[in-house]
Amino acid sequence: MTGRVVLSRWDAAAAASHWGLLSSRRGLSASAHTVYDVVVSGGGLVGAAMACALGYNPHFHDKKILLLETGPKKMLEKLPENYSNRVSSISPGSATLLSSFGAWDHICNMRCRAFRRMQVWDACSEALIMFDKDNLDDMGYVVENDVILHALTRQLEAVSDRVTILYQSKAVKYTWPCPLADSSPWVLITLEDGSTFQTKLLIGADGHNSAVRQAAGIRNVSWNYDQSAVVATLHLSEATENNVAWQRFLPSGPIALLPLSDTLSSLVWSTSHAHAAELVGMDEEKFVDAINSAFWSDANHTDLVDSMGTMLQFAVAFLKPTRVSARQLPPSVARVDSQSRVLFPLGLGHAAEYVRPRLALIGDAAHRVHPLAGQGVNMGFGDVSSLVHHLSTAAFNGKDLGSMSHLTCYETDRQRHNTALLAATDLLKRLYSTKATPLVLLRTWGLQATNAVSPLKEQILAFASK
Ligand SMILES: Cc1cc2nc3c(=O)[nH]c(=O)nc-3n(C[C@H](O)[C@H](O)[C@H](O)COP(=O)(O)OP(=O)(O)OC[C@H]3O[C@@H](n4cnc5c(N)ncnc54)[C@H](O)[C@@H]3O)c2cc1C
Repeated sequence: MTGRVVLSRWDAAAAASHWGLLSSRRGLSASAHTVYDVVVSGGGLVGAAMACALGYNPHFHDKKILLLETGPKKMLEKLPENYSNRVSSISPGSATLLSSFGAWDHICNMRCRAFRRMQVWDACSEALIMFDKDNLDDMGYVVENDVILHALTRQLEAVSDRVTILYQSKAVKYTWPCPLADSSPWVLITLEDGSTFQTKLLIGADGHNSAVRQAAGIRNVSWNYDQSAVVATLHLSEATENNVAWQRFLPSGPIALLPLSDTLSSLVWSTSHAHAAELVGMDEEKFVDAINSAFWSDANHTDLVDSMGTMLQFAVAFLKPTRVSARQLPPSVARVDSQSRVLFPLGLGHAAEYVRPRLALIGDAAHRVHPLAGQGVNMGFGDVSSLVHHLSTAAFNGKDLGSMSHLTCYETDRQRHNTALLAATDLLKRLYSTKATPLVLLRTWGLQATNAVSPLKEQILAFASK
């Protein structure tokens, strides 16, 4: 970062707003660059949604927004016959955000699968938790990432008078305003080709290795997990209603099956790096056998845990003779789409700060989470909803968009939610990565008890649905 001075974030905020005043007095005559109200760096799912949400916000009708994306424009000329192996489970809250600017309609018209139940169970015991919606509401949706991005890109095209998009444009330098020098009060962004832009607010949506976060010197707590996730598109042995999301915790990591259609599901199997590499390389028949065995085998059960678990189940049935969801059997897999097996190393990351004067981080740039909770992009869409809400109020009141007064409200909102989810996900990952009997017993009882307490399950579901 050039022109960086060591100031606390509060000193810097005050200085930046002071310099905003001075420069507006000078009429910004020194600036030779275009000044955008907001620049979003990174046009992945979260950055593109951010640009869309601002582009359609009535309080931003007179604002200029720029979206920068290193990659090419990704629009589907026509829907490919084969499903993509990169899919996301989208929460109802995220679907509401996407609806608010018209992208959800495109997604529904293209391809998306609703699920109404979720079964999560332990490979070391009979313990399970079943989430279901009695009122037939959808619990979530499985959507290909390409389909979401296509829908966002289409909606962005319709607001091209407000949102400029530069594809194949990599931002290589971010220069923060220097309060002590006679310079511009805005953030200066330099692209790889040397062109420059200024902005009153820079939004970093450039993924978990965020260059924006690094340039701002924001500390990131992060570690790599000892796991990679193998994804693939799977063909089921027979057509089913296929409206359940399945996840089983194996000692080596969770395996999940997300519905795509009556006959297809998407696999996310988190396991050791070596096992993941082996799974990607093995022949199809062996791979399919490995998946079916991971879902069906009881090889990790022990008599002690099974009998203690049964005792608790009796106790629960005695104390609470109402309906407790019964275990269902997952569908069996017949074959895998060729070329669809890929692996992704997994990790956790959390930025110590989401905002600085004239800067906000969203999506994986602010937080990276294990996919076991299917929450990464949902957390990012939650950031978008919250930041747009606070920026919209600031714009309505004629406030400086880069001011800390509303940016800190965004940070407080989102850190509260995201920290809880990151901690819970990390704890689950660790708790289920062991076969040690005391811990297996602890989690067996915990899961059975949670499954029996409907209000608790509803709370968990409501939190994850946001
Ligand atoms: C196996 C797996 C399964 C998952 N399943 C789910 C799920 O079911 N549900 C869920 O909610 N989440 C899921 N996630 C998480 C989810 O995929 C991520 O959280 C989400 O994609 C992050 O989006 P993002 O836009 O923040 O970041 P990214 O997708 O990393 O996008 C960042 C963008 O910024 C661009 N960029 C980077 N640097 C620059 C630069 N200097 N200049 C310009 N552009 C730049 C990149 O080209 C990229 O397009 C899963 C993740 C994995 C690995």
